[in-house]
Amino acid sequence: MILQPLGEVDSGLLKWLAEELEKKFGMRVTVGYGMRIPEECFNRKRNQFNSTCILMAMKVEEITLFITPEDIYAEGMNFVFGEAEINGKKAIMSFSRLKSPDFELFRQRILKESVHELGHVFGLMHCKTRGCVMNFSPSVFEVDKKSADFCEKCSKKLKYPKQSGNSWVKP
Ligand SMILES: [Zn+2]
Ligand SMILES: [Zn+2]
Repeated sequence: MILQPLGEVDSGLLKWLAEELEKKFGMRVTVGYGMRIPEECFNRKRNQFNSTCILMAMKVEEITLFITPEDIYAEGMNFVFGEAEINGKKAIMSFSRLKSPDFELFRQRILKESVHELGHVFGLMHCKTRGCVMNFSPSVFEVDKKSADFCEKCSKKLKYPKQSGNSWVKP
């Protein structure tokens, strides 16, 4: 799995996140070199990047989680924390709206939303079990309420690695 920054992301944060994801998914996570976010996905009227556009623009060979400081949205939503290709290879998460003066809280939020988007890549849909990382989070309030772990049901359903897929989920 590749953890791929799009834009400026702190290297210490990337290293920490890669290690946490390795523990969580039991697979090697490599941090990719910084890449520029595709400018054609920027919506000037909204002052946000379209996450679906970014996922479509990026070519990947193995499962890749893109992480960006930019604010992102998907059609029909004011903003999203992330988006993923279900049973596919690509996911993106933005920490633009996860910020907190409490650094530990900030990185836990990033971890939860990263695990959530990767859960979609590994075939999971949203889950209503209390505390499950696959709970849909419309705001940081819900992010803070859930854990960074899959509930028992979701853990059993996790299927990986996946080849390629083309069904999309937002967010
Ligand atoms: Zn669950
Ligand atoms: Zn989701």
